[in-house]
Amino acid sequence: MKETKYIFVTGGVTSSLGKGIIAASLGKLLQARGFKVTNQKLDPYINVDPGTLNPYEHGECYVTVDGHEADLDLGHYERFLNAPTHRANNITTGRIYQNVINKERRGDYLGKTVQIIPHITDEIKRNIKLLGSKGEFDFVITEIGGTVGDIESLPYIESVRQLRWELGRNCLIVHLTYVPYLAAAKELKTKPTQHSVKALQEQGVQADILILRTEHEISMEMRKKVALFCNVEPSAVMQSIDVPTIYRVPMNMQHEKLDEVVLTKMGFDLAKTPEADMDKWIKFVEKLEGAKEEVRIGIVGKYVQLPDAYKSIIESLIHASAYNNKKLKLDLILSDKLTEENVEKKLCKLAGIIVAPGFGQRGMEGKFTALKFAREKNIPCLGICMGMQTMSIEFARNVLGLTDANSTEIDPNTSNNVVDIMDEQKNILDLGGSMRLGAYKCKLKKGSKVYDIYKKENISERHRHRYEFNNEFKQRFEDAGMMCTGLNEESNLVEIIELKSHKWYIGVQFHPEYSSTVVNPHPLFINFIKAAIEK
Ligand code: GLN
Repeated sequence: MKETKYIFVTGGVTSSLGKGIIAASLGKLLQARGFKVTNQKLDPYINVDPGTLNPYEHGECYVTVDGHEADLDLGHYERFLNAPTHRANNITTGRIYQNVINKERRGDYLGKTVQIIPHITDEIKRNIKLLGSKGEFDFVITEIGGTVGDIESLPYIESVRQLRWELGRNCLIVHLTYVPYLAAAKELKTKPTQHSVKALQEQGVQADILILRTEHEISMEMRKKVALFCNVEPSAVMQSIDVPTIYRVPMNMQHEKLDEVVLTKMGFDLAKTPEADMDKWIKFVEKLEGAKEEVRIGIVGKYVQLPDAYKSIIESLIHASAYNNKKLKLDLILSDKLTEENVEKKLCKLAGIIVAPGFGQRGMEGKFTALKFAREKNIPCLGICMGMQTMSIEFARNVLGLTDANSTEIDPNTSNNVVDIMDEQKNILDLGGSMRLGAYKCKLKKGSKVYDIYKKENISERHRHRYEFNNEFKQRFEDAGMMCTGLNEESNLVEIIELKSHKWYIGVQFHPEYSSTVVNPHPLFINFIKAAIEK
């Protein structure tokens, strides 16, 4: 069995430096050299997973194929590496403690006092090494959430310290810091980096590679100075300069020789390792940056004040626009504020509209208004999850004449609940699950628009919801031209609706945005943008 190597990415000075993008970029570069790589994220918060977090707290909740509600960084990993992640790729402090406490209750610790060291750290290490235990990967790249020095991340850094000893050369630490530019002094400052490296050292961890986030080029001289103060070789001090698109970061890090330095430090003979093949990636970035003409798309949702809440949708739109040689111009439209009076003004310039996922009542009416507008004006429109559910309700109210149509999520007493909990869902709920989560099969109807788009009959897409299209209304919808063109046959659930007479009006109960990647953009988004730019 091959020996897995473990790389840790930590961060200092401030949060939001883009550790996830750096970790994903390193993963990409190693993968492009032919290695098998997976990225993992350790989150220092006490929630067992981000499923219960409000998007305003933590951005989008990403969902893996195996139904894990995960940190949005897993979305970056999948988009960069074009490979699925799973439950084991995202661990939180809450989950670590939950596991340890369960073991303690079972008596697994044989009467010992359960402590942070060794029990919590052992559980952290077990979860890191789990990914490498099957010999599936050459590299496991683990990103540690938070900033060095936070109380919350102490057990993680301590685990890294221990692993460093246990694994020797098979373990490496990349530390990302920030080099601020003082405009008044016209100078870049390395002191925060020095402090950050010291904070790491105080916890017994020596960084092997330093990546300095910066808005200005960092000179060789300055790199040497950082190297001297921080116990790293000058060649292992790299910059990550601001770029117009995150998709440039792997190329920039390749230019900084991040992959080469990692491999050399981990004992590889560079002469025997192929260069990274970044051809497809570079072609995508060239398309993305070369596009001149704009396509203007609106996302109607209730979390638009924080664009991270729609991270995967936005990235999917970026991929799809680039593949259509267009530059994405994005309008984020707060559904709460959308009314019959202002809808024309707010949406008339859009070439396409996405009605976003979401939970609960707030912003529902605005979504109906946007949908009615898109439906009547023949504007391409994609409804995702709650977006498909609102599509159904709007259609029932305004076309079928069921004026009180609703979802039982919003109005438990409605008689025309076109969106409801179906039998299959009741089974899941009875089993203690709270949602349909992860990948489910879907069969597409031949002759439909979606069949044309996917070019196959059987697809699999990821879900995250409780409510479903109510089958009782299926016939009436189809008679009026809203076709149910994607079905989950096992549980008889409607997964896709599309309006026959419309240019492009499709609602999907699943989340296509979770599976759009740079080299494999999602066909629904590509086709949606194509329809949006068609005259
Ligand atoms: N609120 C809806 C449900 O639970 C949709 C959820 C979503 O959009 N992810 O079914």
